[in-house]
Amino acid sequence: MPLDCVFCKIVAREIPADIVLETNHVVAFPDLNPQAPTHLLIIPKQHIPSLAHVTEMNGTLLVDLQLAAKELANKYQLDKGFRLVTNCGESAGQSVQHLHFHLLGGRDFTWPPG
Ligand code: 5GP
Ligand code: ZN
Repeated sequence: MPLDCVFCKIVAREIPADIVLETNHVVAFPDLNPQAPTHLLIIPKQHIPSLAHVTEMNGTLLVDLQLAAKELANKYQLDKGFRLVTNCGESAGQSVQHLHFHLLGGRDFTWPPG
């Protein structure tokens, strides 16, 4: 794991986060800077820099991440809807270089995104 990866440190419990879901391969916790009433980050335990780096070698990881999102949407009662987003690369504004999905809910969202 890269020594400076904040999400690897959360997985390793080296920096604190309120972990709301943990499976063999996935962890989820609230975003430090929430953009909606519910704003969770869903990440693989394994360090993968972004969606652009996922390969078939990662098996069912993407399914695991999205099933975790669905489970959390149920748990957080996002019955009216939710948004699942991954920012991939510089133009998309990715600021943490460890694959993560944002699960956002609890308000209405506009489209197209900014
Ligand atoms: P990105 O900009 O890469 O799509 O999303 C990274 C997200 O990670 C941002 O929304 C930011 O608020 C969140 N974040 C950055 N550092 C930490 C941290 O140490 N703890 C938590 N819980 N979230 C963080
Ligand atoms: Zn990492």
